[in-house]
Amino acid sequence: MSILDNLKKIKTELPSEVTIVPISKTHSPEQIMEVYAGGNRVFGENKVNELVEKYELLPKDIDWHFVGHLQRNKVKYIAPFVGLIHSVDSMRLLVEINKMAKRNERIINCLLQVHIAEEDTKYGLSSDELKQTLSSDAYKNLTHIKVVGLMGMATFTDDMEQVRKEFRSLSVLFKDVKSNYFSNSNDFSILSMGMSGDYGIAVEEGSTMVRVGSIIFGDRSYGNK
Ligand SMILES: *Cc1c(COP(=O)(O)O)cnc(C)c1O
Repeated sequence: MSILDNLKKIKTELPSEVTIVPISKTHSPEQIMEVYAGGNRVFGENKVNELVEKYELLPKDIDWHFVGHLQRNKVKYIAPFVGLIHSVDSMRLLVEINKMAKRNERIINCLLQVHIAEEDTKYGLSSDELKQTLSSDAYKNLTHIKVVGLMGMATFTDDMEQVRKEFRSLSVLFKDVKSNYFSNSNDFSILSMGMSGDYGIAVEEGSTMVRVGSIIFGDRSYGNK
């Protein structure tokens, strides 16, 4: 099957309201163009340098999402064009994104990343930190970012009940935050959870956006750098 067929297959499996974000990291511009030619316009990358290189090379109507850990000193490179940042995990990062968005005269859509996995290696805010952030005056003063939802990554494990439990906890938190902090706006609508190994469970638990790489583009350990 071609990579475009892989994407089409996932599309037929999922409800139409779930957005599929093909994660193209390590894969070539030619491979991305194959998926682009099939009509897909959204792609995700997890490294700033790689994202900027691909942005410069590829058609400008691509909606580029950033999904990796973002260092504050690199926000300026993606601020002119990034469509959605999935991985905002601190107030300081949000402040920097706001500053660079303002400099570029745009509003940048952001997801706040929540720590749901058991490992302490995964980035993200705790639910308390999330609520503190959203209640703070500093947050209310940010004019050039829009928080449009939450993102989370489950523990890397074969224990699918564990994964389901983590996604479910994020889904509950999402609804709680939506009704307590965004009750008078429809902007808060994205729950980004699910990757190649667990997107089915994520969607069952309420995901509205899945970030899938290897099941579309193939294994990252072979070929393309
Ligand atoms: C690489 C990556 C993905 C996609 O991973 P696959 O297992 O290849 O689907 C999703 N989210 C983030 C944050 C990633 O870095």
